[in-house]
Formats: sequence, C-alpha cells, structure tokens
Amino acid sequence: MRKVFFPRTLDELWPLLESEPGAAIFSGGTDLFVKMRAGSADPGVLIGLERIGELRGIRREGDGVRIGACTSLKSVLEDPLVRSGLKVLETALKALGSPQIRNMGTIGGNVCTASPAGDTLPPLYVLRAEVEIRSAGSTRRAPIGEFITGPGKTLLGRGEIIAGIRVPAPQGLNLHHFEKVGQRKALAIAVASLAALMRISPEGVIEEARLAWGSVAPTVAVSVGAEEFLKGKALTRPVLEEAARIAEASFFPIDDIRATAGYRKAVAGNLLLRLCK
Ligand SMILES: Cc1cc2nc3c(=O)[nH]c(=O)nc-3n(C[C@H](O)[C@H](O)[C@H](O)COP(=O)(O)OP(=O)(O)OC[C@H]3O[C@@H](n4cnc5c(N)ncnc54)[C@H](O)[C@@H]3O)c2cc1C
Repeated sequence: MRKVFFPRTLDELWPLLESEPGAAIFSGGTDLFVKMRAGSADPGVLIGLERIGELRGIRREGDGVRIGACTSLKSVLEDPLVRSGLKVLETALKALGSPQIRNMGTIGGNVCTASPAGDTLPPLYVLRAEVEIRSAGSTRRAPIGEFITGPGKTLLGRGEIIAGIRVPAPQGLNLHHFEKVGQRKALAIAVASLAALMRISPEGVIEEARLAWGSVAPTVAVSVGAEEFLKGKALTRPVLEEAARIAEASFFPIDDIRATAGYRKAVAGNLLLRLCK
C-alpha cells in the first residue's frame, strides 16, 4: 500500500522529507503520475505539495516577478504581471499541453522535470530566471541554466524543493518571441522550440539578443556566438540566416519517434528566421 501525505505548510513538510527520505514529491502530478503509470517510477511514499499555500502565487519582487513553484500553469498564464511584462513566457504557456494540463501542472513541476522539451524553460533561460531552492534550514538560488544539469537532472539535493522562480524584469527588451513546432498544434511535445528576447533600436538595429532553443540538445541550447553576432546588426533575413548557421554548433539533437535529428536541426535554425516578419 502506497502512503500519500499532503502537508499544509512548509513547517509540516520538512520533518516529512526527513522521515521519508525515499518519498517522491509532486505538485500537479502530470509528469510524475504518467511515469508511475508507465512503470518508470514506483515510489512507496508520495508527498503532495498542492496544499502548501506558501508555494503558490505570483507577486512583484524588487524589479521583477516571483512565481511560487506550485502555481498552476493556468494561473501563470492568466496573471496580469506575466501578461504585461513577460510576453515570451505567456506565449510559451499558451502552447503548453491543453487547458486540463495547464490546470493541473505547475511551473515548478515543469522546471524540475528538466525535460529538453519543457516549454517554460527556453523563456526562463532568456529571461535569466533564478530558481529558489529551499530546505529545512536554508535557502539558496541558482540561475535556471545552472539549476538544470542534464535531461531530467537538477541541482536539487536530498530534503530540497524549489519554492519559487524569480524573473527579473526584461527592461528595454522590446521583442519577445516564442515558437514551438510539434506534430500537432496542441497537446504536442516540441520537436523544436525557440525563445528570443531582443532589444531593437528605433532604427531597427539589434542592440541585445538572447536566444534559447528547446528539444535540440540534452538541455536547453543557447548560442553565445549567435547572440554576439547579432549585436549591432539589422534584423534582416540574411543576418538571421548567418546567426542560425552559427547557432547550429550548439545543437545536439536526437532521433526519436517525433523527429529525426536532422529535421530537428533544420527546424531549429528556421525558427530564428521567423523573427524577420
Ligand atoms: C498529456 C500531457 C501533455 C503535456 N504537454 C506538455 C507540453 O506541451 N509542454 C510541456 O512542457 N510539458 C507538457 N507536459 C508535461 C507536464 O504537464 C508539465 O511538465 C507540468 O508543468 C508538470 O508540472 P506538475 O506540477 O504536474 O509536475 P509533477 O508531475 O507534480 O512533478 C514533476 C517532477 O517535478 C518534481 N517537482 C514538482 N514540484 C516540485 C517542487 N516544487 N520542488 C521540487 N521538485 C518538484 C516532482 O518530484 C517530479 O519529479 C504534458 C503532460 C501530459 C500528461
């Protein structure tokens, strides 16, 4: 018989994590329960975080926005702070799963699953988000790119959870773009995706570019070379074609049931060209 706990506060959670070291924690369960049904996870003890109010909610913090880890994807998508300031994240959330999945799934779950195809990850990379890691006695923070250490792997240690995600305001970054290519328009895991944030001058010159691709490498792929190349150039198709060629060096896609590695690579490069309307 499997034991399931639903602590109501963090103070109730910490002793449980201590006394049940083999427990699997879950928020919405939309990733974990799928794995359990498929037989790739079989924890004897489950700890649900969904009743811990301290882990939910979205608020302004300093010059940015703090999103509680157990905030549902639907609540993030509908939040006025997200809709007004974090368009790149909003667009990605619209493409994530279905209304049912966004009702149940949480942003913390998407981050902790650390899938190369996780739709919130490329936006959180270009937004330079920080993950707040908490345990009974401490709080530490890590940039999202350091928090995710491999496919399905994170910095989380024993007794730690993520409590929230802090997103600095993308000041002056006036072009927000996210696009995902999947096998269908909805309920599809990304074959490739791109999040882009840019600062474009009134004359149309790229002053800053941040780019992050999903599904083309074991973790989110970034290309500092392409970002540097774009700086000071006009947002034109030939410029983007050259940046895509440079970025390809950061792509290490795999063949799977959804697409071949070659197709993923071609699509990932082409996604950059869509920035030129
Ligand atoms: C039909 C279907 C369609 C989907 N479509 C998409 C899609 O289009 N794009 C996409 O990106 N994902 C998709 N997903 C995956 C999933 O819905 C998301 O990744 C979701 O955000 C997971 O959140 P959750 O709260 O349900 O995670 P859970 O299943 O509760 O947890 C996932 C993992 O994170 C850990 N975890 C959860 N919260 C915390 C926390 N606060 N601290 C530490 N660890 C934690 C758990 O231990 C577990 O290992 C889909 C899933 C299904 C079933």
